[in-house]
Amino acid sequence: MNPFLLILLLVLALSAAGAAGARGLARRSRTVTAASLKSMSVREVAHLLEAVAKEPEPEYVMGAMCYAAMPIPEIAEYVCPVCGEKTVYGAGGTPYILWQIDTARSLVEGIRLTGTLDVSLDETSFCSACAPDSVEPRLRLTVTFEDGTVVNPEVDVEDIRMLAGLLTGQLYYETSNDSQSPLRPNLERLGSLLGIEIDVE
Ligand SMILES: [Zn+2]
Repeated sequence: MNPFLLILLLVLALSAAGAAGARGLARRSRTVTAASLKSMSVREVAHLLEAVAKEPEPEYVMGAMCYAAMPIPEIAEYVCPVCGEKTVYGAGGTPYILWQIDTARSLVEGIRLTGTLDVSLDETSFCSACAPDSVEPRLRLTVTFEDGTVVNPEVDVEDIRMLAGLLTGQLYYETSNDSQSPLRPNLERLGSLLGIEIDVE
């Protein structure tokens, strides 16, 4: 890990630990207890983005060269983790997105376990009971900053991978085939997901 980012993260972790007891965050979380997660502030996340912008961009490191092509299902059944309702999808790209939901869930869980940012996966639009008017189901992320500011961007699995890389203090993120891809070219995307404007030359 880059030493500068490591120090920045340590400082953030220490300040998070200090104030963690005072707040009752993370009501939605089943695995991270309320006392253990104090979310980062917008400013702290902006600092991470700026650090990536300033540091030299690391080389792309190729991961696994061969991987089996997975068949994409034609229909998929979605079980809502909130209400338990089953919704069956058969048309368009939705089965593909559903196929990725497990990956998205575990990536988000990984971010939650870092205790840095209060992030949860918003799958509402996939459930016919929770969102009866939903036309095109999409994964969204709910990000709650320290001051209670919430952003709810539409995301794909790649976006979540990038966010995971950022929040673990890396200058790269791990792609689906274990390559290490630099974060720097994706700063604008990351900023817009998080609702943070940063200067990238
Ligand atoms: Zn539901």
